[in-house]
Amino acid sequence: MRKKLIIGNWKMNPRSAEDARKIFAAIKRKAAKISSVTTVICPPFPFLNLLSPDKKVALGAQDIHSEQDGAFTGEVSLAMVANAGGRYVIVGHSERRALGETDEFVNKKLMQALKHGMNSVLCIGEKERDEGGHYLHFLNAELVAALNKIPSTHLRHLVIAYEPIWAIGKKEDEAMKPSEMHEMTIYIRKVLKSLYRGVDVESVPVLYGGSIGESNAEAMIRDGMVDGLLVGRQSLEPEAFGAILALADKTR
Ligand code: PEP
Repeated sequence: MRKKLIIGNWKMNPRSAEDARKIFAAIKRKAAKISSVTTVICPPFPFLNLLSPDKKVALGAQDIHSEQDGAFTGEVSLAMVANAGGRYVIVGHSERRALGETDEFVNKKLMQALKHGMNSVLCIGEKERDEGGHYLHFLNAELVAALNKIPSTHLRHLVIAYEPIWAIGKKEDEAMKPSEMHEMTIYIRKVLKSLYRGVDVESVPVLYGGSIGESNAEAMIRDGMVDGLLVGRQSLEPEAFGAILALADKTR
């Protein structure tokens, strides 16, 4: 059985390095007891270098720039992330897309990360659902655009995080239902299969993200048939995040 992948996205939190260290240390203590989960924490860039990953908890970045280096004020490159200990990078999070990141830019970032062998978590997700199923066309287009010209040899470092925007930042009972996620897992794999004919796309992990906590993590993994979770707010709460890790560890 493959290990679950639980990724914590701290977004623009916490305020101080001291707090970042404390939260990270507490998460490491929780993760030390877990065996069948790969845990990744994505702190803000200034904290990346300050936190010490171990065998159980890896570090990731919340974004990268698409170019290797150059005149890009305020940006951070893949090499900087890797040199700071980052082993994962989130690409195309909806909060970045809301700031103007286009599908084309997401594709360039993904290409940059994958071609250098970085584990890349591509976020996709619709703003809202409609009766006519247009959101499926939207998701198909997001995937097609993000994976444009990405060769199948790069898929071994790809992770897809399906995060319906309407389910992010809500109460846990407003998250997507596991049965609905099961349909999305199947749909995402179907799109991947159509893009990479003859390639084993089952090995690309599909994660769910959006208002996950202790109350819905287990059902989402089991009944949503996902390979893991992308967790926002609750990844800053070591007790709650530790509980999510423990649930993921025991869920088959
Ligand atoms: C996210 O924004 O990636 C996310 C999953 O956030 P939350 O868990 O806080 O809904």
